[in-house]
Amino acid sequence: MTMIRCISPVNGEVYAERPAMPLELARQAVVQARLAQKSWANRPLDERVNLVLAGVARLNEMVDEVVPELAWQMGRPVRYGGEFRGFNERSNYVASIAADALKPLVVEESDRFERRIEREPHGVVFVIAPWNYPYMTAINTVAPALMAGNTVILKHASQTILVGERMVRAFVEAGVPADVFQNLFLDHDTTAALIAAKSFDFINFTGSVEGGRSIERAAAGTFTGLGLELGGKDPGYVMADADLDAAVDTLMDGATYNSGQCCCGIERIYVHESLYDAFVEKSVAWVSNYKLGNPLDPETTLGPMANKRFAVAVRNQIADAVSKGARALIDPKLFPQDDGGAYLAPQILVGVDHSMEFMREETFGPAVGIMKVKSDAEAIELMNDSRYGLTASLWTKDAERAARIGGELETGTVFMNRADYLDPALCWTGVKETGRGGSLSVLGFHNLTRPKSYHLKKVTA
Ligand code: NAP
Repeated sequence: MTMIRCISPVNGEVYAERPAMPLELARQAVVQARLAQKSWANRPLDERVNLVLAGVARLNEMVDEVVPELAWQMGRPVRYGGEFRGFNERSNYVASIAADALKPLVVEESDRFERRIEREPHGVVFVIAPWNYPYMTAINTVAPALMAGNTVILKHASQTILVGERMVRAFVEAGVPADVFQNLFLDHDTTAALIAAKSFDFINFTGSVEGGRSIERAAAGTFTGLGLELGGKDPGYVMADADLDAAVDTLMDGATYNSGQCCCGIERIYVHESLYDAFVEKSVAWVSNYKLGNPLDPETTLGPMANKRFAVAVRNQIADAVSKGARALIDPKLFPQDDGGAYLAPQILVGVDHSMEFMREETFGPAVGIMKVKSDAEAIELMNDSRYGLTASLWTKDAERAARIGGELETGTVFMNRADYLDPALCWTGVKETGRGGSLSVLGFHNLTRPKSYHLKKVTA
């Protein structure tokens, strides 16, 4: 029997394991989801919305278990209290717009015609979730998909193997029928086999570019709708008129929070030459304040990376950049807890350029490169010089200038004077290899439903 294992970054030992579900049982689970879908969709919208919110509330009651469990699984320090703020904010927001987002678009209602577009649930939605924000990334699709009348099958990352199980437990305890929301422990082959057999009506995949490619390949020829939310290499651009302290504070937090393991984390920063020295100096001071250590210790502000192999990849990128002329500004002596394994000191590199992998490929760790620029044109060119495009963070007091620059950027979201935040009222989307589709907002509901047109000509009897 194949086991799916979470190796804890806290101590390198197996923290949890579950047997991978055999294909035949997984197929049966999909059949159950399909059988349950019609009656779920036939319930009034309010009832579905309230049941989802009850599931969210039930999960909130589990906070004392959820927070240390997250620390053990993926290393986020307990002092941050889990993901409840974003999890609740997103759930409540989609609940508040569900009726509006799903209401029919009436084109004509006259004596002669009724013409309208209704939104129908796809059917069975498959959610494949990553470990980096395991609750928040999953809820982005799970909540609106269920509210819209789909049934949902969740496959969570091996690193956060307990998250899907716990979410489903909370929702079922709150009254969501067990066949309506299921968590399956699936290995890659079984996942691909289910997709290739056209088991699902829509798939949302959040994860790496390579993972997204595998899912797209598995779905080839099935015409299954796909939402792909993949990697990023998000830039920040600090202009000469920026509020320097606010820029340092937000961009350094965006680069290092969650040990830099955020899809919209700041990975490269371009600073106008007039502010460059001050920005670098303040950033080094900001980052040096972290306390790296065991995430279960309430004093710890920076935990280990989720897995030793992720830390190895970050170390390799840094070493490669340094071998090509980059300078590492954070003194390793400040972080004696860096063990060469999952516990990794934060780092700031200068003297970097785009010939280095560190400035091109997703780092997904607490390390960021800073470059000096002379003009908006140079900054725009550098920001667009990437195969990714999730968010870009512009720092200026001039909103018109930010809007103008934003118009030139190849990105899913343009931020001004903020970063690394997902607003559930806006569409979460990316360009280039960051993926396609979009979640949250009214458009997220549209992606989780299909349009159905009614063209009714009235005749008198
Ligand atoms: P990952 O390795 O691609 O895994 C994501 C999920 O996909 C996991 O559940 C994983 O299962 C599964 N998976 C991966 N390859 C698969 C395959 N060939 N067949 C079936 N399932 C497969 O990504 P990750 O390391 O968990 O997450 C980090 C990445 O996600 C980063 O690149 C980050 O930027 C991206 N991300 C993007 C967003 C966004 O909104 N754009 C949000 C969060 C994260 P296993 O764990 O069992 O392998």
